Amino acid sequence: MLVINPVSCIDCSLCESECPIEAIIPDTDDHEKMDDFIEFAEDKSELWPVLDRMHDALPDADNRAKDKEKWHLRSHDAAQTS
Ligand code: SF4
Repeated sequence: MLVINPVSCIDCSLCESECPIEAIIPDTDDHEKMDDFIEFAEDKSELWPVLDRMHDALPDADNRAKDKEKWHLRSHDAAQTS
């Protein structure tokens, strides 16, 4: 899992069209879990390492992409980036 820092994001929306699974949505959307998303992203973006290069997708990425109810599976641990 990765998060976008909602404080440093300038809301240019360029990333939304680049995400192949439409996982990025504006924080102005009226989404039932938006407050939880923003709080989680703000918290973790201060703790987790910044991604500075491309990484291979995780082995189960295609299956996870189809799962729309995975909020309860979110990790509180930083991913290994090496
Ligand atoms: S590309 Fe996405 S994350 Fe980066 S500033 Fe624009 S909206 Fe924010």
